[in-house]
Amino acid sequence: MTISNRALRETASPTPNRADESEPTAAVRLEGVSHEYGTGSGGGFRSRSDRTVTALEDVSLSVEAGEIVGLEGPSGSGKSTILHAVAGLLVPTAGTVALHGTDVAALSDRRRTRLRRERVGIVFQRFHLLPALSARANVALPLVQAGVPKGRRRERARRLLERVGLENRVTHLPGELSGGERQRVAIARALATDPDVIVADEPTGELDTATGETVLEALTDIGRGRATLVASHDAETLAVADRVVTLRDGRVVSGER
Ligand code: ADP
Ligand code: MG
Repeated sequence: MTISNRALRETASPTPNRADESEPTAAVRLEGVSHEYGTGSGGGFRSRSDRTVTALEDVSLSVEAGEIVGLEGPSGSGKSTILHAVAGLLVPTAGTVALHGTDVAALSDRRRTRLRRERVGIVFQRFHLLPALSARANVALPLVQAGVPKGRRRERARRLLERVGLENRVTHLPGELSGGERQRVAIARALATDPDVIVADEPTGELDTATGETVLEALTDIGRGRATLVASHDAETLAVADRVVTLRDGRVVSGER
């Protein structure tokens, strides 16, 4: 893999050919995706219907490189499930999820994990930083897995922290940072491997409005040239999106062409 070179590339990928929106090589493409939680597990329930939850039903959507797509909908409408499917954290029960034409479900678990680590940056609502590691070490973590040498990891992490406005917080521990700063560390970490897909799940959900703004600036800055999916029910967060897809009960009700 050429991960270290990609990781060190500072600029985003070129603008997409927007005339080709139906191309199978969209950065992210979901087609007829349905997902039921709770199938296949053991337990004492008598019938499937007692314990399965239909989280998604026949969802199709695509995200082009350079595009930020917002996912809105009430709690439980399936936003996180879509993001997890895009990130390869779950394989939907039906339909296909493709990243640049690669069907994620067709990959072995190992290859899917690798694809996620190298190509997808994930930003969670609750940051998910390791408390014992400095901001820089948290950002560098994905590069450890990618086999990037230590000196380059530290330099890359420092530059990413600078890019999200945290050049003075490089050696701080997460516990020494505000919520907004922690989320910007998480955004820098999501960028570490220079992924071409970013998924952000309620990235401002834990933050007040003013703090959320700096986080959104960081997110839109890194989103340039990448395909970004951001789930939120906050209007200011959704305002950074080029397009908003609305979900209700696991179905797309508006926003997808
Ligand atoms: P959102 O992110 O929009 O709040 P989710 O994708 O988390 O929605 O959830 C969609 C539906 O799937 C909800 O009904 C939720 O209760 C259910 N669900 C989510 N995760 C699980 C899980 N791990 N096991 C069972 N049901 C789940
Ligand atoms: Mg959610």
